[in-house]
Amino acid sequence: MTLRTHILGFPRMGENRELKFALERHWRGEITLDELDEVGRDLRERHWALQREAGLDFVTVGDFAFYDHVANHIQFLGCEPARFGFSGEDELSRYFTLARGVAREGKGASRQKSCPALEMTKWFDTNYHYLVPEFSADTTFSPQDGRLFSEVEEARALGHPVKAVLIGPLTFLWLGKEKTPGFSRLNLLEKLLPVYRQILARLHAAGVEWVQMDEPILGLDLPSPWQQAFEPAYHPLAATGARMMLATYFSPLAENFNLACRLPVAGLHIDAVRAPEDALLAADWLPARRVLSLGLIDGRNVWRADLDKALALLRAERLSKLREIWLAPSCSLLHVPFRAEAEKGLDAELRSWLSFAVEKLQELRILKAAAQGDAGAQPALEESRNALQGRKASPRVHAPEVAARLAALPADADRRKSPFQKRQKAQRARFSLPLLPTTTIGSFPQTASLRATRAAFRRGEMPLDDYAAVLRDKIAQTVAFQEELGLDVLVHGEAERNDMVEYFGEQLAGFAFTAHGWVQSYGSRCVKPPILYGDVSRPKPMTVEWSRLAQSLTQKPMKGMLTGPVTILQWSFARDDQSRAVIAEQIALAIRDEVIDLEKAGIGIIQIDEPAIREGLPPRRNGWVDHLAWATRAFRVAASGVADETQIHTHMCYSEFNDILPEIASMDADVITIETSRSGMELLQAFGDFHYPNAIGPGVYDIHSPRVPSVEEIEALLLKALEVIPAGRLWVNPDCGLKTRDWPETKAALANMIEAARRLRKTL
Ligand code: GLN
Ligand code: ZN
Repeated sequence: MTLRTHILGFPRMGENRELKFALERHWRGEITLDELDEVGRDLRERHWALQREAGLDFVTVGDFAFYDHVANHIQFLGCEPARFGFSGEDELSRYFTLARGVAREGKGASRQKSCPALEMTKWFDTNYHYLVPEFSADTTFSPQDGRLFSEVEEARALGHPVKAVLIGPLTFLWLGKEKTPGFSRLNLLEKLLPVYRQILARLHAAGVEWVQMDEPILGLDLPSPWQQAFEPAYHPLAATGARMMLATYFSPLAENFNLACRLPVAGLHIDAVRAPEDALLAADWLPARRVLSLGLIDGRNVWRADLDKALALLRAERLSKLREIWLAPSCSLLHVPFRAEAEKGLDAELRSWLSFAVEKLQELRILKAAAQGDAGAQPALEESRNALQGRKASPRVHAPEVAARLAALPADADRRKSPFQKRQKAQRARFSLPLLPTTTIGSFPQTASLRATRAAFRRGEMPLDDYAAVLRDKIAQTVAFQEELGLDVLVHGEAERNDMVEYFGEQLAGFAFTAHGWVQSYGSRCVKPPILYGDVSRPKPMTVEWSRLAQSLTQKPMKGMLTGPVTILQWSFARDDQSRAVIAEQIALAIRDEVIDLEKAGIGIIQIDEPAIREGLPPRRNGWVDHLAWATRAFRVAASGVADETQIHTHMCYSEFNDILPEIASMDADVITIETSRSGMELLQAFGDFHYPNAIGPGVYDIHSPRVPSVEEIEALLLKALEVIPAGRLWVNPDCGLKTRDWPETKAALANMIEAARRLRKTL
C-alpha cells in the first residue's frame, strides 16, 4: 500500500503576521498593490518550502488569500455582485472593495457612492469568518484568469508537485445568500458547473496532478435537493480528467456517507478526529482503487497528536484492501497558530505538549515513516509518546479538588432559589428603578492613551501602583460621566480589560498564554486564544476590587461585569482530554465564586456575558440538544449562587438566536441584553413571538458605527419593542460594549438614548 502525506491548507498570515501588517500598510496607502503582491508571493514560497521540508508529497496551492478564500472564489468564478458597479478596476482593488466596502467620500461630482462590504459570517463552527457570496436569479459566472493559475505556475516553477484546492461547487453555493426572493441558489448550479469544468480542465492541462475539492457541507443536515445535486454535478467534473480529492471535514458524514463514497472522484478525505468511525467505514465502502485520505491530526487544536493511536488505526485490517492512503490533518491548518517552538515564554514542559501548524507537518512526517516501518522514526515517536504521557500524568493538568467539587455539586446548583416573578418583586423593592431602565453593556471607550498605558504596564515598564492609579482615575471618570448623563444602572467601564476572555484566563488556574499564537479571524484580523490546558479554578477574586471601588463612588446600582463560562471555553484552545461539558462546568464554578464574592461586596446587579453561546453548536442538529443542555447549565451554575434580590444580567451578540430561544430562556437570567438594532429589531420580534418570560434590553443603536442615533429614531425602536415586550420587562441599552467608540460620540448617543427613554416613560 502506498502512503502519502498532504495538508488541506496552511495558515496564510505568516509566522510573524507579515500578511496582516502588509495589508494594513496597503490600506493606509503606504505600500502599493505590487508590493503587497510581493509579500504574498514570499509567504507562499516559504510555506510551500516548509511543506516540502516535512516531506509532504504535494504542496497545497490555492489556500492562500489576501483576505478570505471564499472571496477568492467569488472573483475567480466571476460572480462579483453587480451592486458594486465595478468598471475596469484591477483584480485586487475590486477584491478589497468586496471585502471592505466603500465609505461615502468627497463632495459633489467627485463623491464616491457608498457601498457596504459583503456580509461576513462564521465558517462552520470555527471562529474564522468568510465573506458571504451574494446570489440572485440573474447571477452569472464566468471563469476568470485568477490568481490560482499563477500560483500554480509559481509552485511548479519552484519545482513542487502541486495539489490545487478549490471550494466545491455545492459548498460554494451553500455558503452564499439569496438576495432576491422566490429563488433557490441551488438553481444556479447549472450555470456554475461549466465554469468549474473549465477551471478543472485548465488545471489538468497545466499538469496539476490533484485537485482537492472542499465539500464540507457533506457534514451538514442537507436538504434532499442538495444531496441529490451532488452526483449529477460531479460526473461532468470527473469527465475533465482532473483527479479530484473530495475533502470533507468538521463532522461525521452520517446520511451523506454513501453519497460521498459514490461520487466519481479519485479520493475522499475523512476528518478522522471529528468522525473516527467514518475512517474505517470509508475503507469498507470505497472502491479499492480510490485514495482514502485520513485526517488523523487535529487541524483545529493545538495539542500534540497521539501518534500511537493513529498508527493503530492505520494497521487496521479493514484498511489493508486499499491501494493508497494519504495521511493528513483533519482540516485546513488555517485554524491553528504557526509554530509552537517559537513560544519561548512557555516552560519547556507545556511547550512539549503543543503542536501548531509547523509541528503538525512534522507529525505527518513521523507518522508516515513509522507506518512504513522506518526505524529512523523511533526516536521522534518516543519523544512524542513521552510528551503525551507527561501531559496525561501532570499534576498541572489534574487538580483533584476541582474534580471533587464538581462531583459533589448538588443537582440543583444550577437553579436560582425562586422563580423569576418572585425574584423580580424582590429586585424591584431593592433597586426602585424607573420603568424602561437605562444601562450600557459594560465597556466604555478605550482611548489610545489607555491602551498605551496598559501596554506599558504589561511590558513591565510601569509599576503596578501607577497602573492601578490610572485605572482608579478612569473608573472615577467613567462613573461621573454616567451620573451626569443620568443612566440608571452604571458600570465601571472595563478599562482594565484588553480582551473579555484573556482578562479572566490570566487570573484563572489552568490557562496559559502564547506570545505568537495568532490565528486569522477575518481579513487582517487575528486572535490569540488562551490555551486551556488544565483543571480550571479561581485562586482569588478577579474583579471584585474594581467593582467595589466603582460602587463606592455612586448611589446608583453598579453592575458587576463578568465573562461567562461558555464564551471563555469557546474562545480558547481547550484541552482535548476532557469533554467540553466538564470544562465548561469547571469554568462555571470559578465564575460562580466570583459572582458570590461580588454579591458579598455589595454589588446587587451582575452581568455574565455569553456572546459565544451559539458558536460552538455542532454542525448537525442532532448534536444541538446535548450541547445546549451543558452550555445553558454552565451558565446557570455560574449565575445561581446568589439571593433573589441579586439581579443577574446576560448579554449576547453576533449571531442569530431565533432557533435557540427556548434554551436562552432556560438560562433564566433576570435581564438579557441583545444585539438587535442592525436587523431592525427582527430578533426582538422572535423574542416576542416566543413570549420570552424575563426582562429584555434590545440594543437600540449600533455601536459598530460612529453615527449618533437621534432621539426620535430610538423612540421609534422602543415603541416597536413595546409592541412585543411589556413595559415592566423592557430595558434600554446600546447593542454592545462601547470600547471601540470615542467619548464625544458615546456621550451624544447615550444622551439621546436616555432622552428617548424619558419621553416614553411619560406616555406609559
Ligand atoms: N461587556 C463586554 C463589553 O461591553 C461585552 C462585549 C461583547 O459582547 N462582545 O465590552
Ligand atoms: Zn456584545
